[in-house]
Formats: sequence, structure tokens, C-alpha cells
Amino acid sequence: MPLSELSSMLESVILGSVKGFSGVNPYADTLKRLRDAFNSGRTRPAEFRISQLQGLSRFLKENRKLLLDTLAQDLNKPTFEADISEIVLCEAEIKLALNNLRTWMKDEQVEKNLVTQLDSAFIRKEPYGVTLIIAPWNYPLNLLLVPLVGAIAAGNCVVLKPSEMSKGMEKVIAEVLPQYLHKNCFATVLGGPQEATILLKNKFDYIFFTGSPRVGQIVMSAASKYLTPITLELGGKNPCYVDDNCDPQSVANRVAWFRFFNAGQTCVAPDYVLCSRETQEKLLPALQSAVTQFYGKEPQNSPDLARIINDRHFHRLRGLLDNGRVAIGGQSDVQELYIAPTVLVDVKETDPVMQEEIFGPILPILNVESVDEAIAFIRKREKPLALYAFSKDSKVVNKVLDQTSSGNFGGNDGFMFMTITSMPFGGVGHSGMGEYHGKFTFDTFSYRRGCLLRSPRLEMINKMRYPPYSPGRQRLLVWFLEHKLGFPCSIL
Ligand code: NAD
Repeated sequence: MPLSELSSMLESVILGSVKGFSGVNPYADTLKRLRDAFNSGRTRPAEFRISQLQGLSRFLKENRKLLLDTLAQDLNKPTFEADISEIVLCEAEIKLALNNLRTWMKDEQVEKNLVTQLDSAFIRKEPYGVTLIIAPWNYPLNLLLVPLVGAIAAGNCVVLKPSEMSKGMEKVIAEVLPQYLHKNCFATVLGGPQEATILLKNKFDYIFFTGSPRVGQIVMSAASKYLTPITLELGGKNPCYVDDNCDPQSVANRVAWFRFFNAGQTCVAPDYVLCSRETQEKLLPALQSAVTQFYGKEPQNSPDLARIINDRHFHRLRGLLDNGRVAIGGQSDVQELYIAPTVLVDVKETDPVMQEEIFGPILPILNVESVDEAIAFIRKREKPLALYAFSKDSKVVNKVLDQTSSGNFGGNDGFMFMTITSMPFGGVGHSGMGEYHGKFTFDTFSYRRGCLLRSPRLEMINKMRYPPYSPGRQRLLVWFLEHKLGFPCSIL
């Protein structure tokens, strides 16, 4: 029996012991198909990678209306928000990868010591193999496709696991996307926690997970079984410090747009504001004015405000409206899964709204007396995915930057850094590990294999390293190891 069949059979037996699972590994055939395709070397040539990236680009172009309609169906996502945050950002990533692929793929020559001066030393960017991308529901297209761009560019086979909660997009990914990609190299697996649990019993060569820290821990522990390398793009509470020295209206416009974009269901949205009571009094009318300007007097009638993904999240969010005092908004409508853009004041550190990531259109304001108190407040908590500071005084913004840690940082604005493909995006500590966007996604999905190719001749040079050892040879070898030539030289 061939080894691959034996290992697939063994895997089925192991999976048979999973609770609630009837004995056959439902993903064995799919994974074998991808594994065989990867082992055949099909995904490695630049031409193949380019053709798949072009397929992805055509998928976005030819299905633009379907994708926008689906995002409207799943989340009532306004076309403007869906277009810029889901489609345009994916297109930018594809374009960047297509323009740079051959350069990114090139071996990187490295500096050598004198001992290896005549040799060839370089880093080869190798695809990992069969990789898994698990995505959440809030940007169901972007968060699946942006990692996929890097995985394809790096030459991997990929299993995509979209979120079961964004049902419309899950169907499009399962039914339409495969028409644009090579079926032996890419596959989609559907389902929720139960299916994902079984899927994770299989061996992958890399796992890229975006979602909550709770599930991130589950994925990390499943990956540890095979020592599979992972990226975890997680969430958390993103603080937003507003200094007294600011223009309240422009701060309010910026904070409100980024908080209420996609109805607050954004991992990098400002989660709460820290400011003095005086600044709060100036911010409140400015925030009210921003909300009215953006969504009108009746935000529920605005076509520009998304809805909450499902009943469970709606009820969770409605529960949070009881925290502190509602200063702006506070209305909700279960029929429409609508929560009004809301600002809460008099919120205590111990209130439930400050214990969990809000992930909805609710913005609590907490009072601090100084930037130092804000920094101490932030440092007492887990490192967030994003951190924001607003001030006309750049020293204040830089002080917050210098004295805190977070996945990404925004001074005087919200998550505009997401639009810069030359900037890494990712979390640190509790907000995740690893980074992506632009070339960083290619790097994430590439193993950097250090290679040294030596000449089979010139054995004379090696003599000094062989026994019998002597202090003289030792000194000589150390000197050769520690020194470099000032100019490149290679015989291979
Ligand atoms: P989630 O963790 O519940 O689910 C994410 C994905 O994991 C889904 O595909 C889901 O089906 C799957 N999953 C659920 N249970 C699983 C299990 N037991 N084993 C394996 N997979 C499982 O997250 P969500 O509710 O879809 O998304 C919201 C969270 O994602 C928030 O915390 C948010 O901050 C975070 N997020 C982070 C980023 C980022 O880039 N860092 C982006 C978007 C969302």
C-alpha cells in the first residue's frame, strides 16, 4: 500500500475517535487531492501563481454586483463601505502581488564569512505546502481573500474555511470562487465550530486564522499537535485617547466614522475613548453632530449604516446598552437587527462593556485626568490590536506611541493604516501573532530556507577545520569565520 494511502487511512482512524464524528475523515479526499497537487510541483512556477492571481482578479471583477449584493444581504453593508473595505483592498493586494511576484520569489543572497566566500549563500522562499485559511464574518471577503493572495503568490495549496455566519458570502465562496481557481490546488470547506474542529484534526503545513482570541487558542492548540506554524489575527479592545488639545469636531468625525463603519463590527475599530471630563463635554455635541450628519436624524432609515450579523450578537449588544448612561443613540430594533450609533458615558472600568470587545456601534467614554493616566490604563490591559491617540500636540501622540504596545497604531485618525500595503498588519500578545498585507503576506506564507551551496572541490580550504586540532588552526578558523570580503565573490 502506498505510504500516502496508509497515512490517510491512519488519519481516518484517529478522526474516528472524535466525539460526534462517525468514523470517516470527511476531508481526507480533498486534502489528498491538494497534497498530491502540491507534491507534483504544479503551484511552484511563477506562471501558475500569476494565472491564479489573475483568476482571483477576474472573480472580483466579474462578480462585483453579486459580491456587493451578498454583503448587503449578510450585513446590510452599504455599497460604499463594502466596495472600499472588501473589494478595492483585495484588488490592490492582487495588483501588488502581480507586479512584484517575480522579485519577491527571487533567492535573496546573503553576506558570507571568509570560510564560505567562494560559495553560494542565499535564502530560498519556499511554499509551506497545504495551508488553511480560517476567516470570520465581519469582512467575509477581504479576510479570506487577502491572505489567499499571499498564499497563492507564495506557491501554496489552500483550504478556505469561510465563516458560517455570513451565509451569503459562504455560499459565493463555495460555489462561484472555485470557477476561477485550479480545483486540485484550492478547496473550500463549509461549516461552523463542529466542522472546523474536525478539519483541524488534519495536518496542515500552515494555518492562518482570523477571529476571536477564544477560538484562536483552540486553533493554536490543534496546530501544536503537528507543530504547524500559525498566524493568529485576533481581536480585543482598542483604546482611543483624546487629548484636551484637539479640535473636537474633527476628532468626533474621525472617531465616529471608524467606530460606526460596518456598524462597529471591525476588529480595529476604536472600542472606547479615554479623555478628560472637559473634553468629553466638548466631544458629545460634536459626536452627536457627526452622527446626524452621517446618518440623518433617524439613523435607522439611513442606507449608510450596516446591521448586526445575527440575533445572538444583537442581544449581546443590546445588553451592553444598559452600561453607564446613554448620551447619544441607544435605540434598537430586533426585527432589523438594528442598534443605533450609541455613545455611553459614566461607564465604569468594571462594567461589562469594558470586559469584552464590543464589536458593535457602541462607544463608551471613560474619563482620565491626563495622558499619563490614559497610558497607565492602557498598559494595565492586554496589548490591543490597534491603539489611537488624538492631539494637536505631536509630543502627546508620540508619548502614547512610545509608552504603549499594540498591533498597529494610529495618530489622529482611525484605521487608515489598513489601506497601506507596505505596512504590516497584525496583533501582538493577546491580539495575535504574525503579520500580513502586501509583501508581508507573501513572507508569511513562505518558509525562508537558508541555503549554502559549496564546491565539491577545493578540499584544501576545509583542512583547517579537521582534527587533529591545534591552537594555531583554531585561531585561523576563528579569524576566517569572523571576517568578510568587502566585495561579492562566488564560484557556484
Ligand atoms: P470566531 O473566532 O468566532 O470565528 C472565526 C472563524 O473560526 C469562523 O470561520 C468560525 O467558523 C471558526 N471557528 C469557530 N469555532 C471554531 C472552533 N472551535 N475551531 C475552529 N474554528 C472555529 O470569530 P468571529 O465571531 O467570526 O469574528 C469576530 C472576532 O474576530 C472578533 O474578536 C474580531 O476582533 C476578530 N477579528 C480579527 C481580525 C484581525 O484582522 N485581527 C479581523 C476581523 C475579526
